[in-house]
Amino acid sequence: MNAALNSTHNGETRSWVSSANDPKGDFPIQNLPFGVFRRRGTEKQFRGGVAIGDQIVDLAALQVPLDDPLAARALSAASKAALNELMQQGPAAWHALRLALFEMLREGATRQSQISRCLVPQAHAELTLPAEIGDYTDFYASKYHALAVGKLFRPDNPLTPNYAWMPIGYHGRVSSIGVTEQAVRRPKGQSLPKGADRPVFGPSKRLDYELEVGIFVGCGNAQGTSVPVDAAEAHIFGLCLLNDWSARDVQSWEGQPLGPFLGKNFATTISPWIITLEALAPFRVPLVRVGTDQPLLPYLESAQVHAASGFDMELSVHLETAAMRSRGAAPERLARSNFRHAHWSIAQMLAHHTVGGCNLRPGDLFGSGTLSGPLPEEAGSLLEMTHGGSTAINLKSGEQRMFLEDGDRVILRARCEREGFASIGLGEASALIRPA
Ligand code: MN
Repeated sequence: MNAALNSTHNGETRSWVSSANDPKGDFPIQNLPFGVFRRRGTEKQFRGGVAIGDQIVDLAALQVPLDDPLAARALSAASKAALNELMQQGPAAWHALRLALFEMLREGATRQSQISRCLVPQAHAELTLPAEIGDYTDFYASKYHALAVGKLFRPDNPLTPNYAWMPIGYHGRVSSIGVTEQAVRRPKGQSLPKGADRPVFGPSKRLDYELEVGIFVGCGNAQGTSVPVDAAEAHIFGLCLLNDWSARDVQSWEGQPLGPFLGKNFATTISPWIITLEALAPFRVPLVRVGTDQPLLPYLESAQVHAASGFDMELSVHLETAAMRSRGAAPERLARSNFRHAHWSIAQMLAHHTVGGCNLRPGDLFGSGTLSGPLPEEAGSLLEMTHGGSTAINLKSGEQRMFLEDGDRVILRARCEREGFASIGLGEASALIRPA
């Protein structure tokens, strides 16, 4: 169902919300992403909303009778202060609600005046986490990133043999996940200076971003059961952007033998809108495992799923330094990559995560791993761009960067385009580094 195209993907359809018809906008009527918001400056309860153009449909205010009971039940769940209940309802309910919203927002819709009273300008909204996230797992799905980083940390053994056989990941920290514009404070921690025989303590000197896609679990599975790879996408609600902030000096000292810990757990920033898999259907591409045609273990193999389990989603990282901001200069793009460079699909991540009987719950979050591509300008972290902190980047502003400085704002963006379809965007995951 997720991969099928239907009337909600028709690129000709326009909305009566005029800002939604801007071809450069992220949120045309073909997108309809879900988030949680309230009017800025109020103490009102947060509530579910759908982005359309530069507006948000306030779903709690949208008291319209819907003919389809599945859509009506989904609308009630989507209006709450967290989207977990909507996520639990599954693909048929998500589709029914999307279709109902599409029909309400298209040009010529009958209830236009009633619905227009439920619009809140995005400029007047405060967005928050779209779900109560129970667990967060960060994967390592780009082989290009794994190779580049592996060479820096383990020159003799850059890609461990298990990489070819399964999606590698680690269990991350939920309490420090925030949406765009969350305050990110430079972490303090232990690190081992080059050539030193004992660690030092202080603010991280190698603070970095990671360009990732976030994956929200929809329906869960019971503990002791696993989700077959062919069924895995029905358990995924949608995608967002995710910045896995990383203190490289802390990470490299603590990383062996058990993996990431304080180098990663101080902050993770996601974009506030979740783009459903249905909205992304036109942008699917085959999954390409570069450099190998080795068959996988059967629980990760599926010809049907692999045929269209990649996404042609252009990703970019932008940097705004304090100096650029004070001059009113636009942020500079540091890198551009694509989600299609992932070696493992979201279905394989979910199938692998559950294969031992681990239960996922609605609202659980995965990070894809840093989505670097094959070219130098497709590096998804400063660690890769600066070759491990050895070659500084020259910015157009005349400044240089090896790693992030206080006052730097990092902005992740993503966009899907395909001839004959409306382009959609994911919005932004953006945050500013504050001093330790
Ligand atoms: Mn990561």
